[in-house]
Amino acid sequence: MSNIHIRTRFAPSPTGFLHIGGLRTALYNYLFAKQNGGQFILRIEDTDRARFMEGAEENIIETLRTFGLDFDEGPVRQSEHLEKYKERAEELIQKRAAYEDAGAVRFKMPRDGVTHFTDIIHGEIQIENKTQEDFIILKSDGFPTYNLAHLVDDHDMAITHVIRGDEFISSMPKYAALHNAFGWDLPQYAHLPLLLNKNRAKLSKREGEIAVYDFLDKGYLKEAVLNFVALLGWHPKTDQEIFSLEDLIKEFKLEDVQKAGAIFDAAKLDWVNSEYIRQKSPREILMYLMDVGRPLGRPTSKSEYLEKIIALEQPRLKKLSELPERADYFFKEPEYNAVLLKWKKMSDEEIKKSLETSKQILEQINGKDFSKENLEKIFLDKAEDFKDRGELLWPLRVALTGRKTSPGPFEIMEILEKEKSISRVQNAINVIK
Ligand code: GLU
Repeated sequence: MSNIHIRTRFAPSPTGFLHIGGLRTALYNYLFAKQNGGQFILRIEDTDRARFMEGAEENIIETLRTFGLDFDEGPVRQSEHLEKYKERAEELIQKRAAYEDAGAVRFKMPRDGVTHFTDIIHGEIQIENKTQEDFIILKSDGFPTYNLAHLVDDHDMAITHVIRGDEFISSMPKYAALHNAFGWDLPQYAHLPLLLNKNRAKLSKREGEIAVYDFLDKGYLKEAVLNFVALLGWHPKTDQEIFSLEDLIKEFKLEDVQKAGAIFDAAKLDWVNSEYIRQKSPREILMYLMDVGRPLGRPTSKSEYLEKIIALEQPRLKKLSELPERADYFFKEPEYNAVLLKWKKMSDEEIKKSLETSKQILEQINGKDFSKENLEKIFLDKAEDFKDRGELLWPLRVALTGRKTSPGPFEIMEILEKEKSISRVQNAINVIK
């Protein structure tokens, strides 16, 4: 491919917000262009006025920017070039390859023979032309149909590789016949596999066929979403699963994209996301939350405090959106039922004694020495005096968090610091009659 100048395009219709499938098409087009030193072009296919959605184009552009898929040309809007399509339709009428029909222009589809073409992903494809019928290329409202418009533009924009969803394969005889009528060569085609759910059915809204931005709102990092999307139909020959955009430009191979439908595996997305969450420093996560403003809203508490909480929860997080719920006790007094303080068969008396012991220990430690290590050492020493160490540590941890599960009490107290830790233990003592 060295002597041709690679040009790809992403050609969404502005009928809604950009979905995961659209992001994948954009990504593969971008990767293929960039790894070949070529150009990636954005074309807005806005000729279907009935399905046009206000704001969709802005969302598409913003999403591409968010993910770093910078286009070299565009956005080119088809609705701004109606004259061009009209002229092309007239050219076909003159060549007797098309005719007027109740105000619309229809292409005369040759019904004999077989259309052959080589698809980069699917290999040799043959489709009998008799499966097709004459089709409209220019509607009576003066707007072209997709069939005409995309093909004229791909030609005029010198697109070398058309990379798009495989729902277009069955119409390839139409496109081959149109190219033929114009006297043009076909570009190269790569038709991408459909996205499926785990039951191999078409993806529903609930399962992921939702706007890319919704994934960011749900607490997925953009790097994770992009990485996950790259793997929807493409797998490297190695075991590597975590890829930056730069890695993908190097490693992605269009010819290795699978033919069969790609399964959208939400558990895999969670896993990829948790990998990215762990790779980041707490400060980076905080900056990300402040920058993207989701999913927590922009943080307002003191950033050092937030960083410590992030560091504590980071290893366990699948999504950033879990943070507020998991860490709520850092922002408000815990609420819990007194029975939660009870470890195994402890009596109220024993619980009270345990909490009082904790309180005394805490009062004796200098506020400056409230490190996890120091607290752990002192408490574990003291725990030797109990039947089992849960008798000291469980009531303490519940007093601090109000929760059945949480990180350990020492790292929590390091973050809460002396005064707050003691007051929570005191509150727990008060809860027991
Ligand atoms: N506008 C078409 C769509 O959104 C583009 C298909 C193509 O890439 O040719 O499905």
